[in-house]
Amino acid sequence: MVMAKDTRLIVCSQCATINRMPTDRKLSDGKCAKCKSVLGEPRPVDISDKIFAKLQSRDQGAYVLDVWAPWCEPCRMMAPSYAESAKKFDGDIRFFKLNSEEHPQGSARLNVRGIPALFFFNGGKLVSQKSGALPEHAITKWVRESFTSS
Ligand SMILES: [Zn+2]
Repeated sequence: MVMAKDTRLIVCSQCATINRMPTDRKLSDGKCAKCKSVLGEPRPVDISDKIFAKLQSRDQGAYVLDVWAPWCEPCRMMAPSYAESAKKFDGDIRFFKLNSEEHPQGSARLNVRGIPALFFFNGGKLVSQKSGALPEHAITKWVRESFTSS
């Protein structure tokens, strides 16, 4: 009997197309079937409410979401740490940013009361969350722990 290869659904952060990817394939090696964007970038990628809604409802991979706003000083302070942490995961755990001023629906759905707020999703579920600005090592440690426990 031939078993189907394990796959996971990965939403493209640029065009919202749902891509079926083998679980053993690195997302940094994967390209969107429609727009050819790399599916897993080793850096934070800005997303819209529309893309986030699609991620929440359909994506089966692991990703972190930073809910922030341009007027928020601690958010701006944390941005370089967040980018540094993203490099450690090489795109296989995706790092997204949602500007809650431009895209308020996603943060409302997540019940965000204070920013910056970090959310870790895996397999279509919210695994854990943290609020307040964190240094790079704390972000990386939290992402690793969240990934292991999910
Ligand atoms: Zn795409």
